[in-house]
Amino acid sequence: MKILVAGAAGFLGSHLVESLVSTGHEVIGIDNLYTGYLSNLQRVQTKPNFRFQNHDVINPLEINVDRIFNLACPASPVHYQKHPVQTIKASIMGSINLLELANKNHARILQASTSEIYGDPNISPQPESYWGNVNPIGIRACYDEGKRASETLFFDYYRQYGVDIKVARIFNTYGPRMDLQDGRVVSNFVLQALRNDPITIYGDGSQTRSFCHVNDLIDGLIKLMESEDGFHGPVNLGNPVEFTMLELASIVKELTGSNSEIEFHPLPGDDPKQRKPDISLAQERLKWNPQIQLREGLKTIISDFKSRI
Ligand code: NAD
Ligand code: UDP
Repeated sequence: MKILVAGAAGFLGSHLVESLVSTGHEVIGIDNLYTGYLSNLQRVQTKPNFRFQNHDVINPLEINVDRIFNLACPASPVHYQKHPVQTIKASIMGSINLLELANKNHARILQASTSEIYGDPNISPQPESYWGNVNPIGIRACYDEGKRASETLFFDYYRQYGVDIKVARIFNTYGPRMDLQDGRVVSNFVLQALRNDPITIYGDGSQTRSFCHVNDLIDGLIKLMESEDGFHGPVNLGNPVEFTMLELASIVKELTGSNSEIEFHPLPGDDPKQRKPDISLAQERLKWNPQIQLREGLKTIISDFKSRI
């Protein structure tokens, strides 16, 4: 198949591209290189079934494809909050442009949505039926509301034009090739621990997240894309084992043998207190279950970061 990956040079995008290229598909990667790097595509750049195009999804594009994965959006709070207008434009205008392309090509299109749809959730774990608790004017809204509007657009293109859509709600995912300066918690803690720098905990560290290894996530995205007709999601993809940030810091310290001190910093605005996916829908409809638990998965990012710093 001819597959378009938007956001191809990013963390998840580059792993997805590698997986699709290795199974023999013709893959076109597009990216505006805002938080992505061409070096992330090093392993595929010489493959005859891959090509890259520098393109910003806020602009329309013309290309013939069978499948579209839309991952084009900065994902780290540090980066999306630096350029909030660009972030919401990437989500909304990017979704419209790629949905138009899918409609013209009769292509299937998958949206990389997010657990941020649930905001600061009042229930835990979060099932897909939960509508969320999002501040529409806060500092995270450019991302959260952009992704929520994208889901609306996906379902409206499905209802109005019959576009073949799939929507994945991705929970915090980590792994090798995360940008060292990404600013998200796993990459920050691993980098700080390896350098014996203070580990920066925002707030009191009692907030929770559930961390999914990139290999499990990519497997889930591909399973969703190829799931039977008539299943559109949204479907949660994440590892349901929940950790506090204090627990994460202590595991990272232990695995790296680090002398880092713990340093407490103010909690950023609207930071969700808890996040844990209910993955029963993915288990039932996709036969998907994350295989890599946190300690094992952290070893892969630790050894990757060791080789890069
Ligand atoms: P990332 O920042 O590494 O990748 C995003 C990629 O999109 C980058 O290469 C960036 O340059 C590109 N991009 C941004 N704006 C663009 C635009 N306007 N046009 C073209 N390209 C653009 O982040 P990631 O972790 O790989 O996330 C990929 C996708 O998955 C994002 O859509 C994100 O919202 C979603 N997601 C990720 C996580 C996670 O934990 N990693 C969780 C939930 C959702
Ligand atoms: N966090 C932290 N220290 C850091 C970076 C993040 O304590 O150096 C916290 C952050 O406040 C949040 C959690 O870790 O509660 C996850 O943050 P991240 O930016 O990875 O993603 P989020 O799930 O908030 O989008």
